[in-house]
Amino acid sequence: MKHAVFPNIGSVAHRDILRCDPAISVKEAAILMDKEKVSSVVLETGGARHIFTVEDMLGFVHSGGDYTTRLSALPIRHLECIPEKEKLLVVLEHFDRTGVSHFGVVDAGNSLVGIVTRTDILTSIDPAILLERKKIGEMIIRTEPVMFTSDWVLEDVMHHFRKAEDAIIVVDEGRPIGIVTTKDVFGIISSGKAANKPLAAYMTTPVITSPRSASINEAMLQLKQHRIKRAIVVDEMGQLVGVISQSELISYAYGAWINILKNHSSELHELVDMLEEKARSLEHLSVTDVLTGLGNRRLLQIRMDEEKERVKRYGAAPFSLVILDIDHFKQINDTHGHLVGDAVLKLLGSEITATIRKVDSAVRWGGEEFAILLSNTPLNAAAGFCNRLRAAIERKELVNGIRMTVSLGVAEYDPEEDESSLLDRADRALYNAKRRGRNRVEAEPVIRISS
Ligand code: GH3
Ligand code: MG
Ligand code: MG
Repeated sequence: MKHAVFPNIGSVAHRDILRCDPAISVKEAAILMDKEKVSSVVLETGGARHIFTVEDMLGFVHSGGDYTTRLSALPIRHLECIPEKEKLLVVLEHFDRTGVSHFGVVDAGNSLVGIVTRTDILTSIDPAILLERKKIGEMIIRTEPVMFTSDWVLEDVMHHFRKAEDAIIVVDEGRPIGIVTTKDVFGIISSGKAANKPLAAYMTTPVITSPRSASINEAMLQLKQHRIKRAIVVDEMGQLVGVISQSELISYAYGAWINILKNHSSELHELVDMLEEKARSLEHLSVTDVLTGLGNRRLLQIRMDEEKERVKRYGAAPFSLVILDIDHFKQINDTHGHLVGDAVLKLLGSEITATIRKVDSAVRWGGEEFAILLSNTPLNAAAGFCNRLRAAIERKELVNGIRMTVSLGVAEYDPEEDESSLLDRADRALYNAKRRGRNRVEAEPVIRISS
């Protein structure tokens, strides 16, 4: 196939750039855009390029702007440009990242050759749109169609039929007036008729023609409707420019996809990677607490499931769960304000993260409460950890000389209980720590009624 389907951004950019004088008014720009059916005007002054788009205009009108204002008096946006060789998917990613609506496309000499929008890229990737946009005139290869005037004798031109798809187009001053196909010739021969008369005696007339501006879709539809096998393509003057067989049209339609897959498999891989990366970052966001950057309840849930599995399936040592609550945090907020309160929460988050091991997980449980999962840690060791953390926080001077203490409740996981019971026990332990004076650690063992 001659044309690569969508090799780079240059192939989808609009080439009809509307350049205009910065001295024109917003109204004049609107009239121009409407007339030229474009969504932006470009201002090129002294090497700098700016763009004024339909969206800009709507924004301007919306904010009560005066139509007679000159574009030069507006804070018009700089037009960011991309080399025409750039890959589509790279540019698509660029659109998504920057939120910009239009990019300029420049050639190797840095001249502006086109404008591209996000929609242009998306529609070019859709094969249905491709078939809609591709004109049959662009498909005609240099080989001339086989054409003769109607006075030629059939047997003299018969050697042109070699394949089932061959046909002779009969023309009058360059205009197609009839057609003789292989099938016709086959009928003549098999019925024993003579082939010594002029083409006029055998041709089917008139012929159905297609303008070269027809899209591939339109041409295919026409062939289907008239049950014909080839499109006879004519120019604006009705002159024959070429013949495209149905199989060529169909192979173009499928070839478009095969080409995309063949020539752009690396781009498709890139797209897959990009989407996976996006999915990963969304996944990360969904388990992250925005203020402290620690995990959230969802992360704790996931980690607890994993740890339960380790204990149950592999007989690993039990894990412990800690709930930590800042003592009299309300006072910190009341005395220093919420922003300082937030900063304190962040600091505490980093302090906890710095204290735990890689295999442990700390999450913000909510408000000024944190939960810590200590992997492979029985209750005694967990209580020891809690006390070290409690003492470290007590010693630490926070922002503005503020100090604080924390209370902690800890419980060890028992494979015979469910999670909510584990959380309840840790919570009860925390409640006891508060009740017994704060700045302390309490544990809540499993109470089992022996049978
Ligand atoms: P106690 O020792 O009993 O835990 O006392 P306390 O003041 O810490 O507890 P209380 O539950 O009465 O108050 C918790 C406070 O934490 C109230 C709330 O405004 C504050 N808080 C919760 N979330 C945030 C937050 O994201 N930012 C800030 N700055 N404050 C928060
Ligand atoms: Mg609380
Ligand atoms: Mg508190």
